[in-house]
Amino acid sequence: LLAGVAAGAMIIGLSACSSGASGGDKGGDGGLIGVAMPTKSSERWIQDGNAVKSQLEDAGYTVDLQYAEDDIPTQVSQIENMVTKGAKALIVASIDGTTLTSVLQDAKDADIPVIAYDRLIRDTENVDYYASFDNFKVGQQQAWSMLNGLGLTELDGTAKTDAPAGPFNIELFAGSPDDNNATFFFNGAMDVLKPYIDKKTLVVGSGQTDFQQVATLRWDGEAAQSRMEDILTSTYSDGSKKVNGVLSPYDGISRGIISALTDAGYSVGAEWPIISGQDSELDSVKAINGGEQYATIFKDTRKLATVAVDMATAILKGDKPEVNNTKDYDNGKKVVPSFLLDSQIVVKDNIKEVLVDSGYWTEDEIKG
Ligand code: BGC
Repeated sequence: LLAGVAAGAMIIGLSACSSGASGGDKGGDGGLIGVAMPTKSSERWIQDGNAVKSQLEDAGYTVDLQYAEDDIPTQVSQIENMVTKGAKALIVASIDGTTLTSVLQDAKDADIPVIAYDRLIRDTENVDYYASFDNFKVGQQQAWSMLNGLGLTELDGTAKTDAPAGPFNIELFAGSPDDNNATFFFNGAMDVLKPYIDKKTLVVGSGQTDFQQVATLRWDGEAAQSRMEDILTSTYSDGSKKVNGVLSPYDGISRGIISALTDAGYSVGAEWPIISGQDSELDSVKAINGGEQYATIFKDTRKLATVAVDMATAILKGDKPEVNNTKDYDNGKKVVPSFLLDSQIVVKDNIKEVLVDSGYWTEDEIKG
């Protein structure tokens, strides 16, 4: 199969040389590679797109980098366009992992290899590799960070001997139901939280614990804000209890939750809840410094870009990309061979060590 893909891509590659000039502003003569990203409304995807583009250009390819502003038909037509332009390979971070089946059949028919970037592409045979993080572990880390903030565990989830008995009131948020990662994050988090909920150390005040009840379509911070407002009104407005912790799967959702809490009269200090996050977005790193958000997750987009670029270039050279997981990511049609990176929990105390020393953000950016 791989040899077939590579040979096919090389044939396409010859034609791409002549048409490649229309595909990007800069780059080498290695041919065109299409990179489809979901949205610029979240900082992480801008970092991802820039890193993938520059690394591909350094490897001698021309890059067509497109953002679809979370609109599914736009993303489908962007990818269709990349196929028509003779891309040699596609790197795709999908908006809805189930909507690309038809356009990826066209890619297959043109022998274009496809790499799913960070989000698994579902319901198609026509995805060759998957570059991502250990998404179940990311969910566990989000839960551990909340438990740590509540004084129950260390950051790695080890129970503290002097842990308070609780009970603590918590609320749960999950990501977009059409993003395969959202269930992995939520399942990882619930794997950690369930024993505490069963023991009643943690109490979900609203009673909303099913994925469908707590999911946030398109990871939309405003939708999360309004769900949090509803919960604060329905469950916490009689003054008898406060929210002590909120499991949030993404920094943009955390910011919506923070706004809802502020509007409801919570203020940072003793009664402010512990809130998790993900992506180490600049505004959220500042919020961690300021005590509004307790933690985020650092996923190094530069390393993810390297994995995806290495996969694409290996395939185009006829080599076999390196993978480290061949069991966990079944997309409904096949188990997609994957390379999964590690993520790290960021709290106030390790911002410098994790984010500044690694060169991801500068000291000035974090302060500014
Ligand atoms: C990514 C997360 C991100 C979320 C929202 C997920 O697929 O893995 O890093 O927070 O999308 O953009």
